[in-house]
Amino acid sequence: MNAVVAGVSVDTDHWIGGRRAGSAATFEDRSPIDGDVIARIARGGGPEVDAAVRAAEAAFPGWAATAPDRRAQVLRDIAAGIEERLEDLAVVETADNGALLRSHRRGVMPRSAHNFRFFADHLSERLGEPDFDTRGHRNHLSWDPAGVCALISPWNAPLMLATWKVAPALAAGNTVVLKPSEWSPLTASLLCDIAADAGLPDGVLNVVQGIGTEAGAALVAHPGVRRISFTGSVPTARSIARTAAANLTPLSLELGGKSPFIVFADADLDLAAAHAVEQYDNAGQVCLSGTRLLVEESVRDEFVARFLDKARSLRQGDPRDEATDIGPSIHPDHFARVDGFVQRAKRDGATVLLGGGPNEDLGGLYYRPTLFTDVDPHSEIATEEVFGPVLVLRPFTGEEEAVAAANDSAFGLAAMVFTGDEDRAERVTARLVAGTVWVNCFFVRDLRAPFGGSRLSGIGREGGRWSFDFYCDIKNTVFAP
Ligand code: NAD
Repeated sequence: MNAVVAGVSVDTDHWIGGRRAGSAATFEDRSPIDGDVIARIARGGGPEVDAAVRAAEAAFPGWAATAPDRRAQVLRDIAAGIEERLEDLAVVETADNGALLRSHRRGVMPRSAHNFRFFADHLSERLGEPDFDTRGHRNHLSWDPAGVCALISPWNAPLMLATWKVAPALAAGNTVVLKPSEWSPLTASLLCDIAADAGLPDGVLNVVQGIGTEAGAALVAHPGVRRISFTGSVPTARSIARTAAANLTPLSLELGGKSPFIVFADADLDLAAAHAVEQYDNAGQVCLSGTRLLVEESVRDEFVARFLDKARSLRQGDPRDEATDIGPSIHPDHFARVDGFVQRAKRDGATVLLGGGPNEDLGGLYYRPTLFTDVDPHSEIATEEVFGPVLVLRPFTGEEEAVAAANDSAFGLAAMVFTGDEDRAERVTARLVAGTVWVNCFFVRDLRAPFGGSRLSGIGREGGRWSFDFYCDIKNTVFAP
């Protein structure tokens, strides 16, 4: 089955064992830009998942035995293929998930290629540790590929987050079954074409399209799966973890957040306000987003004035327009969920400093960047992940209160700290519960660093050597003298 999306031909069937395979059932894929149906997608379930896992199992011994340098070369060729088709990928992704075309062109798609190149470069350097001696016996550690990896990705950065899993899994010598989000299924299909052109053997990468509770649930329950890596929401993670428990399948969970964005009185307030406004990027649909602005009382008014000044200059509109800063929400259901949070917060007495509802001028799925204050710190809007362009601002007095407020959360994905005092930065960051902490900056990412969350934000870390630790069976072999 084929669809032409933004002028690009995309196959909307599954990719199993190096071949396209359809399903009797299909589902509609609508663009968040205008609500139009842009494709009909194969709706996989148990049989398609079983076929994909079997194909991946069949391909595993060959790929695992392929010389690491050869594996690395194929990954580099996939990276080059992504770069060659960068514009196609960017326009299709924007049509599919409504995120900014300019971000796809300049940030997201280059990063998707980089994911492959990084793990290709990294694999030959990393998979190995010096041997060590125990009373004359030689300990030798090896990172052996684990087998078939089930990879489940969300819709907010579809190709980037899929390749963040696919690249290290393949680099380590595993085979893969990827289940993209049903709200953004298209670029995973283009990735299959690119991988095939790069010479990835049949069955090493498989994609099953479908609904989470159908194809996704069948995939994580499959006994042939040796690893599950999931990025998405906490409720889905709980369901996957319950299923994984039955087979004791190791899993890595990258989940949501409600990250604190702390601004001390001694901070560069312009810098802090500029980064605070960036928390609206991707219409707030970013797991790392610092959605709790904690601002020292003495600079609250000054910070708010600078923030509002910058936020009011953001341009909301068609994500294909290079001048647009904020596009639409992904889906009517998600839009309604975001609006539900906002309307309940207003009803409960929160003060709206910015936005507070849908953008009626634009209609459709455009939600106004919103800032609340005067919120009960334990209310829904202050504690739950909205995953939309909605921030809450809470003043604090002094370091102790800032740290307590920051850590007063069920999540622990990221934190941002703005201060002009280096000692304070050291003291505060040491006490924050978060997988990533940024000081006087935001979103600086190095793939060598571990990535993941504490508390409800996830289990495990991926990135750099941590990805290989997860995607491999680490073996110690002890040789007698
Ligand atoms: P989601 O949990 O609804 O869906 C994620 C994926 O899981 C989709 O592919 C979906 O089809 C699949 N799925 C749904 N139910 C399933 C089931 N029962 N079994 C197996 N698979 C199932 O999440 P979403 O709405 O797509 O993504 C948004 C969430 O993802 C937010 O909470 C966000 O914070 C989080 N996120 C986290 C990170 C991170 O790296 N920590 C990155 C991006 C997004």
